[in-house]
Amino acid sequence: MENTLKNIRLFLFDMDGTLYLGSRLFDFTVELLDTIKAQGKKYMFMTNNSSKSVEDYVTKLAALGIEATEDDFFTSSQATALYLLEHHKNQRLYVCGTRSLKAELSKNGFEITEDTADTDCIVMGFDTELTFKKLHDISYLLLTRPDIPYIATNPDYVCPTEFGSVPDCGSVCDMLFNVSRRRPIVIGKPQPEMPLLAMAKAGTAPAETAVIGDRIYTDIKSGLSAGAYTVLVLSGETTREILDASFDKPHAVMDSAAQLLDILKG
Ligand SMILES: [Mg+2]
Repeated sequence: MENTLKNIRLFLFDMDGTLYLGSRLFDFTVELLDTIKAQGKKYMFMTNNSSKSVEDYVTKLAALGIEATEDDFFTSSQATALYLLEHHKNQRLYVCGTRSLKAELSKNGFEITEDTADTDCIVMGFDTELTFKKLHDISYLLLTRPDIPYIATNPDYVCPTEFGSVPDCGSVCDMLFNVSRRRPIVIGKPQPEMPLLAMAKAGTAPAETAVIGDRIYTDIKSGLSAGAYTVLVLSGETTREILDASFDKPHAVMDSAAQLLDILKG
């Protein structure tokens, strides 16, 4: 594990549960990121949350004490924009998502519409601005146009909050499944797209890339399907019991990413 990790040139970090927990920054995080930079290596933060913009994340990390620029992030919104550029260029999008998601898609040249007669493709995100009109319109589109492209930024059923969780993109897609029997094409983790696109951006091969996260069914699975080295940290959601019961196994398991820092320094 030590030799493999020393050869890694790109570290793709999950954020919550890996570098901080809620609003508490882990004490090793700043030194870990500084050490990676000082060794001439790269890191990026990967998030499935498509409700916030990259600017929002820069602000959030700054408040926690992590200096970051927009280039340090890779969000499921960005990955979805790249996917749409490749497969649905010039299509008009009906977006069930926040203003931030719509802005990301507009920035990439897509026309956003709220008119079902004008829609070529449906995009689902983690929509903290969800309305019944959007559910109504998408139900109409899925039922009247069974072949319409239907894409979702991320598969998560819930998004953690201070009091537990709220419904995320996957739960809303389930509501629409009950109506239409259709499932979207999903872009975020556990699909390999985000790590693969991040590697393409950084110019590294899978063997030189590590995915580090606290969830097996999103972080680790996306890394495994992208062919990257995977590190599960037990500082967030996953317990030893969950790990033992899981079919998908990471290459390495650490109590926290503090152990990664020790290996890089050692
Ligand atoms: Mg996490």
